[in-house]
Amino acid sequence: MTFALDVITIFPEAVSDYARTSILGRAAAEGHWQLRTLDPRTMTSDPHRTVDDAPYGGGAGMVMRAEPLGALVEHVTDLARPVLALTPAGRPFTQADARRLAAGPGLTLLCGRYEGIDQRALDLVADEEVTVGDFVLAGGEAAALCVIEAVVRLLPGVLGNEASLDEESFAAGLLEYPQYTRPAVWRGREVPAVLLSGDHGAIAAWRHAAALARTRDRRPDLLAARGGLSAAERDLLAAHGLDDPPAGE
Ligand code: SAM
Repeated sequence: MTFALDVITIFPEAVSDYARTSILGRAAAEGHWQLRTLDPRTMTSDPHRTVDDAPYGGGAGMVMRAEPLGALVEHVTDLARPVLALTPAGRPFTQADARRLAAGPGLTLLCGRYEGIDQRALDLVADEEVTVGDFVLAGGEAAALCVIEAVVRLLPGVLGNEASLDEESFAAGLLEYPQYTRPAVWRGREVPAVLLSGDHGAIAAWRHAAALARTRDRRPDLLAARGGLSAAERDLLAAHGLDDPPAGE
C-alpha cells in the first residue's frame, strides 16, 4: 500500500523539490509513498491571497489566519491522518514517533510561517503538535522534511538493508557505536583493532560497549530513560576499558 503524505504549506516547492532527491525520490518512484502538497492560499478569496494577519494583543510579526486552514481541511475530504502540526511549542518528535507513523497508512504535516498559526486552527486541524528541536526555524517546511525523511526511510522496502535499522541510533534507546571504513590507518589514526579481527562475537560486544559509553557520555538522558546501566553493562564497559567517562565530563 502506498503511504499517503500530505503537507499543508504556503511554500509547496520547498517540500516537493527536496522530496524528489535521493531515497525520498526513489521511494516515491517505486510507489512506497506519495506526496501531496496543499496550499492554504488556494482557499483565500482576496486579490493578495492573504494568509496572515496581525496578532491580537499586539506584538511583533504576523499570525497565520485560521480561515484558510479551516476551509482547506473541509475542502480536502481525504486528508491523510493523523495530522501533525510543526511548532517549536510541540513535544519533541522522536524515532519512536517515526516508527509508529510508518506503521500506519499516512500522515499530514501542517507547516507554520510568520509567528505561527492561530491556535484555534491548530486545535481544530492538528491531532498532535511536535517540534524537531529546541530552536526556532523560519517555517515548518524544513521541520516537515525531517519528519518525512525519518518516516519514509522506515517504510517496508524503502531501504536496501533493513537490518541496519535495528542497530542505528535510538533503536534500543542508545546512540549508535562509531563507524569506520577503509583505510585502516588514516593520518596516523587507527581503526579499533577488534573491527579488523573477523571475530563477530567480539565485534558485537565492542559495538555494544561503544554504544553504551557514547550514550552515557553524550546523552545521559537517553540512558536514564532506559533505567541506567545494568551490572552486566558496567562489566562490559570495564572489559573494554570504557568504564570512565572522558576527562572533564
Ligand atoms: N513564534 C513562534 C515561537 O516563538 O514559538 C515561532 C514561529 S516560527 C518563526 C514559524 C514556524 O516555523 C512555526 O509556526 C513552525 O511551523 C515552524 N517551526 C519553527 N521552529 C520549529 C521547530 N523547532 N520545530 C517545528 N517547527 C518549527
